[in-house]
Amino acid sequence: MMNYNKNLVAGCGLSGAVIARLLADKGEKVLVIDRKNHIAGNIYDYRDENGIFIHKYGSHIFHTNNENVWKFLNKFTAFNTYMHKVLALIDGIETTIPFNLNTLYDVFPNSLAKRLEEKLLSGFEYNTKVPILEFQKQNDKDLKFLADYIYEKVFLHYTSKQWGKNPDEIDSAVTARVPVYISKDNRYFQDKYQGIPLNGYTKMVENILNHPNIEVQLNTDYKKFASKNSAMLSEFRIFYTGSIDEFFDYKYGELAYRSVNFKFETHNRKFYQSNAVVNYPCNYDFTRIHEYKYYLSDRSEKTVIAKEYSENFENGKNERYYPIETPENKQLYEKYLKEKPENVYFLGRLGDYRYYDMDKAAERAMNLFEEIK
Ligand code: UDP
Repeated sequence: MMNYNKNLVAGCGLSGAVIARLLADKGEKVLVIDRKNHIAGNIYDYRDENGIFIHKYGSHIFHTNNENVWKFLNKFTAFNTYMHKVLALIDGIETTIPFNLNTLYDVFPNSLAKRLEEKLLSGFEYNTKVPILEFQKQNDKDLKFLADYIYEKVFLHYTSKQWGKNPDEIDSAVTARVPVYISKDNRYFQDKYQGIPLNGYTKMVENILNHPNIEVQLNTDYKKFASKNSAMLSEFRIFYTGSIDEFFDYKYGELAYRSVNFKFETHNRKFYQSNAVVNYPCNYDFTRIHEYKYYLSDRSEKTVIAKEYSENFENGKNERYYPIETPENKQLYEKYLKEKPENVYFLGRLGDYRYYDMDKAAERAMNLFEEIK
């Protein structure tokens, strides 16, 4: 094994920041580059002129059961005690997502809701989470009706807006993120630790990177950096959090991603909607509306919302947000990975081509550090 005296981290999102900090704490010098003009990647947020923290790349709610990740991040920020809930408008009725026992009473007449609740409680343990594609395998007539209802009203149109495909055409793990929940717990996540960094995600990442051994260079594209510094590149240990196909100049073709387009609106009133996120699984072309002032209880006479529209990722036009983990795409990813040079490590949503939540991205960086140290 070569003795690398320099570390290069390409990409300054959460994954890149965490690996950089762990190396720096161990006494290693780390250069972090990012082609964007800001740190924090897709968790970037900023306080706007109304005093409202805007999540530029969509709502980010931190949640984890991982003690190590929680402890690590708490060194760099305090979190509020926010417990995320998601509402959805179904046939004009505002109700809770994931679909749970309370939802039954919001959308059905009481007698029907009661019958369905009793059947659910005799068929499933209380507190179980059932992916919709599993939940559809029902024999009972009432439960079959319920499964069809949830599939149609919650998943079908939302998923076709979000992914351009039906729920049964995408990786089953994706819709399983939002199960049918045999519970009265209205929260979106059940993790032990949940919250929003009190001074925002950008500040959290800034604090992670604030170390004498870390140097950050923004507006610095990896490919341009690599060609300028080609002579010394092999001396670096490289942690690459960009998309692996780009690293290899797309020589086997492009990896597919979904992107999102946020249409921001400022409204001259205190609140626009009754919750931070409202999903529109049956109506309109956007999937959901985010209202940012809820996250940190920002006080303002105005409110800022974003309507979220999903679209395909197109190189040069928009950003990569979601890997599309089909067997073919995973195969293409593996094909690239086989060519990984010894001094290069891939990580993050794009580098690993995995639909990580923030805690999983941090955990992956921490595990990689343990592997190599
Ligand atoms: N989903 C849905 N209806 C909803 C919410 C989610 O069909 O009201 C499905 C959809 O396929 C989505 C997936 O569940 O892509 C995961 O949703 P989640 O909210 O976890 O996505 P994220 O917040 O990561 O975009």
